[in-house]
Amino acid sequence: MAHDLLIVGTGPAGLMTAERAAEYGLNTLVLERRKAVTDSLMGELVTMNALKLLRVKPGSEYIGNKYKAIVGESLDTGAKISVGEGLLGDSFILDEDRCQELMRNRAEANGTEFRYKSKVASVIKERAQVVGVRYNGADQARANLTVGADGSFSRVSETAGFTHPKWLLSYGIRWKLENCKGVDADTAYFYVGKDIGLGYLWLYPRSESEVNLGIGRVPSSKKNWENLPSLIDVLKKYKKILPGLRNSKIAAQNGGAVPCAGLIPKFADAGVALVGNAAGQVSSIVGGGVTTCFHAGTVLARHAKRAVEENDFSKNSLMKYEREYRRSKLAWSIQNTGKGFWAISKYARFNDPIKAAETVLSQLDAKTLNALVQGQAGVSDIMTLLRDFMPIVLTIGKGYLKSIAVSGF
Ligand SMILES: Cc1cc2nc3c(=O)[nH]c(=O)nc-3n(C[C@H](O)[C@H](O)[C@H](O)COP(=O)(O)OP(=O)(O)OC[C@H]3O[C@@H](n4cnc5c(N)ncnc54)[C@H](O)[C@@H]3O)c2cc1C
Repeated sequence: MAHDLLIVGTGPAGLMTAERAAEYGLNTLVLERRKAVTDSLMGELVTMNALKLLRVKPGSEYIGNKYKAIVGESLDTGAKISVGEGLLGDSFILDEDRCQELMRNRAEANGTEFRYKSKVASVIKERAQVVGVRYNGADQARANLTVGADGSFSRVSETAGFTHPKWLLSYGIRWKLENCKGVDADTAYFYVGKDIGLGYLWLYPRSESEVNLGIGRVPSSKKNWENLPSLIDVLKKYKKILPGLRNSKIAAQNGGAVPCAGLIPKFADAGVALVGNAAGQVSSIVGGGVTTCFHAGTVLARHAKRAVEENDFSKNSLMKYEREYRRSKLAWSIQNTGKGFWAISKYARFNDPIKAAETVLSQLDAKTLNALVQGQAGVSDIMTLLRDFMPIVLTIGKGYLKSIAVSGF
């Protein structure tokens, strides 16, 4: 084979897999359909866990900003909850471009080859084993292990034969704004409201004059989606309304889709493995994928090294990656929040999720909100939610049962 490892995609999952695999000395090729690593969106709000996996320091140039507070607010009623410094722990916004370049540089320094403008169409299979990919029409690349790090609409996943029932996607758009005035750079904001639907609007300041304004929304049904203003229209509206943004300039726009239904049923097979969004490795409630992608990339790279040492790229060998990943704490959280989100989206088909969000927002305690936002809700947080929101849980349960009855899921 030409390469040990062939990675499709330079999102956080692909870059982390490449960086670690290169350190292990694996002969690695990366294919990316865009022109540069910095063209892809990497996500931004992370905790200390992401920095540890990325091996960067909190005060370094790779960090765009650090927050002292997080505020959750209803755009309709003004109901508000604030998580202050005592509870917040560490919450950072990454300097996306620098982090992407850092991972690419580390991989290149250890011999990894990056080929841009390389759009993968399908995997190549020989005797039920994936042995590489076809890209840009007639081109082929071959490797012992092909990694699908090509996001929510993964060609590797689809053509290798992986399935994803219950695939629930959150669609998001993010603007980088400049020329803002007097923004509180120490606070990150999350907003819910009837314009937003099942999701949230966020405002992450990079400084007093630079802000990332974004929106993510799950289409609970076609009808619900069509009744809502478009994502761009919501951004335009709140760019005029939110403090300090009125005369700001849009410096960049990016977007994408994030899976919210938990891990897909199977993400490793003979000669192939999926990582990141492609495998559903995203914290479902908030759509946080950076830390989970970094973590998954490190696990996969380690198993790629083992497979190379053992010269074994069989299904049994690569399933060891999937099994180890599924046993991790992050996978546990992804699966549980995925199930919860699936129930909520069903509920939202027939009921008003905003009412539930409003009630939650007006009663939720700061510690639990913080745990949810950070994607770190543990058993005690879930128990608190169940205790404090039993009426809502029961309502959601009723809506969920109704959804099941109607849709047959
Ligand atoms: C608007 C928005 C904001 C977000 N904010 C946050 C946040 O604040 N915190 C957080 O933790 N997470 C956030 N996320 C989620 C996070 O960005 C994703 O979970 C993460 O980027 C997934 O990484 P990935 O590497 O699996 O896939 P992706 O980032 O989707 O990368 C896939 C890569 O594969 C390439 N590709 C796709 N198809 C092909 C092909 N056929 N051939 C070759 N290349 C291909 C793409 O160009 C891309 O570079 C956000 C997501 C969105 C959309």
